[in-house]
Amino acid sequence: MINYTERIALLMQDIVSRTPRLSFIDLSEVLVFARFGRSEAEGAFATCHCLTLPESEPGYFFWRDRTTGELTRRGDTSIKYLISFVIPRFCDQVLERTRKADLYPGAEPWIAKLDTVVHELYHIDPEESGIRRFVRADGTDSIRTHGPQFYEEVAEMVRAYLASKPDPQMYEFLNDDFAALTAKYGGVVSTTFRNFPSFPQRYMERLEMPPADCSVRIEPLKPLTQPVLYTEQDLHIRQFTGSRTNRLARKGQGQAA
Ligand SMILES: [Zn+2]
Repeated sequence: MINYTERIALLMQDIVSRTPRLSFIDLSEVLVFARFGRSEAEGAFATCHCLTLPESEPGYFFWRDRTTGELTRRGDTSIKYLISFVIPRFCDQVLERTRKADLYPGAEPWIAKLDTVVHELYHIDPEESGIRRFVRADGTDSIRTHGPQFYEEVAEMVRAYLASKPDPQMYEFLNDDFAALTAKYGGVVSTTFRNFPSFPQRYMERLEMPPADCSVRIEPLKPLTQPVLYTEQDLHIRQFTGSRTNRLARKGQGQAA
């Protein structure tokens, strides 16, 4: 079977190594995982989730090594970003009759997927302050994370990447839609979180506050429905079919939850 998120992560490595504007990205700090989403339904193809809010932020959530308490993943690197791909929707993305088509006249349909991969990488902020912000033409900071310029810059990077003559094996898998991948490889698997279809979310935490002014009404927080700590143990490989997913047992591990 083809491990789709692993193939995307390898492709990202190649893109980052050939794209000066993305060369600051350390992919050991980026985790690629899959979410489920039907191809026929409206919705995102991929999302960049940022974990680089300061630790002092009440909304901060993090990835902590269970034994050392360090903020780590596989070794000694903090995870700063999660990038999710929606399967099978991403695999079935086309270029025709989309906004992207104008940016890639005459290009093959799979270029739309390469565009999405570069797009998500471009959201990673070189200042490590979260999701990249854009500067307006007058030099002021825009709170928007996308503007027409964003899409054009992504397309420039996609064209430059292909012009750098990468090994076609790096991106060939983008050529197949979900049905073709399933037929060719006997199945599509991807990294997911144990609590699939969920994944790490921002959460709120109760803070000790001085006695409130009695005119201020204090609402209790809803109990958390999500873990606040995720570790490598929470990663599961799942098989995606067109309509559902199945958990696969990991080598050397039982089915224990
Ligand atoms: Zn975006």
